[in-house]
Amino acid sequence: MDAKDRLRLYLEQRRDLGEGELVLDSMSVDDVLKAIGAIGKGTVMPSSTPKGGWREVLAAEGAVAEASPDVGAIKVSSQSAIEVAATETLNTIAAEIRSCTRCPLYKTATRGVPGSGSPTARLVCIGEGPGASEDEQGVPFVGAAGELLTNILGAVNLSRDEVFITNVVKHRPPGNRNPAPDEIEACMPYLLRELDLIQPKVIVAFGNFAAQTLLNTKDGVGKLRGQVHRYRGIPVIVTYHPAALLRNPSWKRPTWEDVQLARRILDSATGP
Ligand code: SF4
Repeated sequence: MDAKDRLRLYLEQRRDLGEGELVLDSMSVDDVLKAIGAIGKGTVMPSSTPKGGWREVLAAEGAVAEASPDVGAIKVSSQSAIEVAATETLNTIAAEIRSCTRCPLYKTATRGVPGSGSPTARLVCIGEGPGASEDEQGVPFVGAAGELLTNILGAVNLSRDEVFITNVVKHRPPGNRNPAPDEIEACMPYLLRELDLIQPKVIVAFGNFAAQTLLNTKDGVGKLRGQVHRYRGIPVIVTYHPAALLRNPSWKRPTWEDVQLARRILDSATGP
């Protein structure tokens, strides 16, 4: 995916979330429209500033969205569009999660827990939802299960800083209950945006909910593990959740085999 694709994807994500206009400073209108592919699809560009301004022209193209204070501050220079867009998008996703009210989980949780880690991670770990420690600290996979995840990653020579760690739902379900289908549905756009932005080479789904949500199946980890699945073309390895390993140490060996498989996929993947 080149810089233009990433910028176009970013703008499409903003539009999908209902924002009808986006102000891009330090970049000419022609540059923006070329970058997002609007020019060349029958668009006739005015030769001077049109009545109502460029903002209306961009909005009329359907490629950019209505004014939003936080994205309005984004600066996109023609030299560094890809870096700025990538950084701002992960930050923006995190900010949106922290103030999200799309499902009832925010009412009982202490805080939202966005994904955390490298924006250029080649491996993404996905769990179910924040637990008590995550809810308290606002960081995914901390506490005993998080420590175990760190050890699991370390066993295949990966540090937490190198990967991206996130969950299916970003607010803690009360009493650690399972997230409800409508809660998962409400929260999925955040996970999809994180994955679209990072474009990992391999995803490791920890536990039933992550696996079933990504793979759209009712099968459990026992049946799904040991194979290479695909999510939007990205290899997905399913394994046990670290919290489950704490309760069932006999699952450590199959989990070890699963992360080894993920590591082999990573090693054989080309590109950054
Ligand atoms: S769980 Fe997801 S959809 Fe629900 S309030 Fe939190 S961030 Fe929003």
